[in-house]
Amino acid sequence: MPDGWSRSLDAEQLADRRSDIDFSIPLPALPRIAPLLARAEGGAQGKASFAREQSLAVVDLTVDAQLTLTCQRCMRPMPWPVASRARIALVGDVDAADAVAPEFETVIAPGGRITVGELVEEELLLALPVVALHARPESCGVLLADGPEEETQKPFAGLADLLKRGP
Ligand SMILES: [Zn+2]
Repeated sequence: MPDGWSRSLDAEQLADRRSDIDFSIPLPALPRIAPLLARAEGGAQGKASFAREQSLAVVDLTVDAQLTLTCQRCMRPMPWPVASRARIALVGDVDAADAVAPEFETVIAPGGRITVGELVEEELLLALPVVALHARPESCGVLLADGPEEETQKPFAGLADLLKRGP
């Protein structure tokens, strides 16, 4: 079931069956993640383990992913590895989400249906920085001699005009 992550599944049924779903998702296939990537590559691997806790359908989600974001200082690609583990309660609507104990994240499953891809996408969005910046200055292109093109100074740009005018 290579594309199992994209199938719409019944959350209650997954919980009652205590289903385990292993996934390996190409990041460009996730519509809310794809536009954030500096390069259309990378993947998210992990496991979604469903269970029932009291009356709730819950899922233990582990995600390992290697994203490539764009540094907002030098506009160059930067790696952003994600290794997350979350306990998520699947609820039908916003009102139900309010009643969930605080140790759970909540994801709304409209009509009780979810895809593993949506859960992973939600988790990755939570793991992204507000502003992506290279952590180490030496990794950041701004401090290198060949900075981004829009920042490049052209000290000799006016020289041709000067020479043309002559003495
Ligand atoms: Zn940078």
